[in-house]
Amino acid sequence: MFALIVACGGGDDGGLAVGDGGGVIVATVTRTAGETPAATLVATLPAGTTPEATETLEPGAPTAEASTSEPTPAPVATATTAPASNGDAALSGFVYPIPGGCLPQSDLLMPNAPREYRQGTHEGLDFYGVDNCTAIGLGRSVVAAQAGKIIRIDHGYVELTPQSLAGLRVDLTSAESLDGFRGRQIWIDHGNGVVTRYCHLNGVVGELQVNDVVAQGTTIGYVGESGTPGSVEAPGTEYHLHWEVRVGDSFLGAGLAPAQVRALYHTLFGQ
Ligand SMILES: [Zn+2]
Repeated sequence: MFALIVACGGGDDGGLAVGDGGGVIVATVTRTAGETPAATLVATLPAGTTPEATETLEPGAPTAEASTSEPTPAPVATATTAPASNGDAALSGFVYPIPGGCLPQSDLLMPNAPREYRQGTHEGLDFYGVDNCTAIGLGRSVVAAQAGKIIRIDHGYVELTPQSLAGLRVDLTSAESLDGFRGRQIWIDHGNGVVTRYCHLNGVVGELQVNDVVAQGTTIGYVGESGTPGSVEAPGTEYHLHWEVRVGDSFLGAGLAPAQVRALYHTLFGQ
């Protein structure tokens, strides 16, 4: 059991945030048999405070995501068949993008989690060291969850600055801002309208280029915190992978209840 205390000012957190005015989330999640022990997440979000975290599992591990990186649907570049419908896509055979990983215990780190402060939803999974089955920190290898073709890989990413961060905050819901808050990214097209996105990366594998076909499990990049406000305001506090499964013009699990979303992703990873 561990407690994660997150303080976030400004209300632009995307991971465990509940609102601009501050608030408290207490999420107790019990794992199923075979997974790690149950844990309690406690997120406090007093407005105007600076990010800080305490936890006992992994000293130096990141706190909750401090990003408004809620993605907008992007066109699928190379889909050759009709996109699968949301939610009922029977996707399976994927591996975790971080080897040894598992689904986050907290539903707040899962797809379709509410982001009430901006009336939106989280469209991916957040893999944090404090809420996963494996150590996740700066530089941890990220792999292709399924075979596919790279359709985006940000070799020339420019880190956020106080100025560029302020620019992204002018219109939090614009496509440009949402993309900016995802930081350095890789997108892989798996066909049939399915694309995975790997976000907040610290780096990408230098030899990989757009149109390269990668096998499942290929190392493609490395965990970082790019694109998060924390990368500017509290460097070193936001190392995690934000990972999305895009299906057509939406994401896997859109519109479903937490248990249904969890079931879909268990199926995705063959659990
Ligand atoms: Zn996320």
